[in-house]
Amino acid sequence: MSKSVPKFSRAILVDAANQYSQRASTQSIAGWGKYPVESCEVYRPEALADLQEIVSRAPERDLIARGLGRSYGDAALNRDSGVVLSQQFDRMLGFDPDTGVLHCQSAVSLAEIIELFVPRGFFFPVTPGTKFISVGGAIASDVHGKNHHANGSMGEFIIDFRLLTASGAILECSREQNTDVFWATIGGMGLTGILLDARVRLQRVETAYMNVQNERAANLDIALERFFETDDEFAYAVAWIDCLAKGRSLGRSVLMRANHARVDELPPALRATPCKFEEGFKPTVPFTFPNFALNPFSMKLFNRFFNAIHPNSESVVGCDNYFYVLDRVQHWNRIYGRRGVVQYQIALPPESSRAALIQILEKLTEANRGSFLAVLKTFGPASQGLLSFPMKGFTLALDLPFTGQDLIAELQEIDAIVAEAGGRIYLAKDACMSSEVFAQMYPNLNRFREIKASIDPEQRFASSQARRLGIVEPR
Ligand SMILES: Cc1cc2nc3c(=O)[nH]c(=O)nc-3n(C[C@H](O)[C@H](O)[C@H](O)COP(=O)(O)OP(=O)(O)OC[C@H]3O[C@@H](n4cnc5c(N)ncnc54)[C@H](O)[C@@H]3O)c2cc1C
Repeated sequence: MSKSVPKFSRAILVDAANQYSQRASTQSIAGWGKYPVESCEVYRPEALADLQEIVSRAPERDLIARGLGRSYGDAALNRDSGVVLSQQFDRMLGFDPDTGVLHCQSAVSLAEIIELFVPRGFFFPVTPGTKFISVGGAIASDVHGKNHHANGSMGEFIIDFRLLTASGAILECSREQNTDVFWATIGGMGLTGILLDARVRLQRVETAYMNVQNERAANLDIALERFFETDDEFAYAVAWIDCLAKGRSLGRSVLMRANHARVDELPPALRATPCKFEEGFKPTVPFTFPNFALNPFSMKLFNRFFNAIHPNSESVVGCDNYFYVLDRVQHWNRIYGRRGVVQYQIALPPESSRAALIQILEKLTEANRGSFLAVLKTFGPASQGLLSFPMKGFTLALDLPFTGQDLIAELQEIDAIVAEAGGRIYLAKDACMSSEVFAQMYPNLNRFREIKASIDPEQRFASSQARRLGIVEPR
């Protein structure tokens, strides 16, 4: 009888031959969108020495770092090859209260930082719509928040970091040292190496509360106009769009804008403990919904409901409630069913934003393809990160339940509209873009490849996304 091959076989055999101590387990993993699901060799190093050994000796041809797995598509996947979990590198290493500079390892999460530092009067300077991301993931995607128009993206607040490179050497990178690698790594999707730790400048806040103003906009034109008129007044601004609204109501939305509240703006009852951080009750989606649960009818109901509970209003709310609405429902991605969801986020330059947004929203409503979540924001100037996503103009993010090739074909048509408008697609959300479209949208690609080749000539760091997009050679 032939013996069945155990799951760890490959790494164990190498272990026997080379006294190699790290083992991978073969696992089917996915990003937050649950599409695609891929079989990868997953490593879980406990210490820096393990990590170095994996980089220099793991038998897989290439490796990619993984933080908290909140990118939607295949950025932190590596089909049939190595994925290195960073979760053991989760220590805070130092904090200077005078400058607000935090030194931490790469797997420390925004959730941990906020919980620890908001009560001390500091907030994370750039925060996405979820706090369950790692500092490493935030740097690698050069994440942006609702304040990009005012503060820029993550890279603005990174003082320096240490990067484990393909040779096993640890590079210290900053604006002054290894500058090229610094800007290739910020937004570089883990393709330059593994981030070990970083120094991040936190932002001072007087309270744990936000002064929030909600305003309904009857259509896209009014929403865009109100963004332009009020961007200077608010540090944070986002519009939640009803993607199923048609005709004169196309782009109907609720603008949700905010500033960090000062102590004198708080209701008297909150002034005694202005920095008290509260998370509140967190229900769970108990199981993966059947695929049919999210349909145009249920989405229409949801959008009506959302609009109804967001009248024009002003209020003071805890920062957790303003920034992380989705985080309050654990496993909320289960509502998309087993087939998962594609998050499609685009950036468009100011001059072509309106026309392209109308074309895209019309295309989606024609196809009866509503998005449960559709979010519009303004972007300020681009960062120096070579593969960084934001560019001056507008950004639209859509959650589109995965339905198969028909969705991919429709997205390709939308890709063409975005490319024609001079825009681009966000790599942290992407699961479908072609290499041709990517090369058109990211003009610094060749420069990025040159810098990568200088520190990683054998392409030790690669992901499924990097191969699909042609950032690295196919295997
Ligand atoms: C609900 C939700 C809302 C979101 N909202 C926003 C938003 O508003 N703005 C925004 O910008 N993004 C947003 N995102 C995307 C998210 O911020 C990014 O995908 C972020 O990179 C996730 O971090 P992570 O730790 O989960 O990284 P992962 O998903 O694990 O990895 C993402 C990328 O980072 C790389 N990486 C991770 N750790 C390291 C490391 N130690 N060294 C080198 N590379 C590393 C990976 O290789 C991969 O390329 C959202 C995601 C979700 C689920």
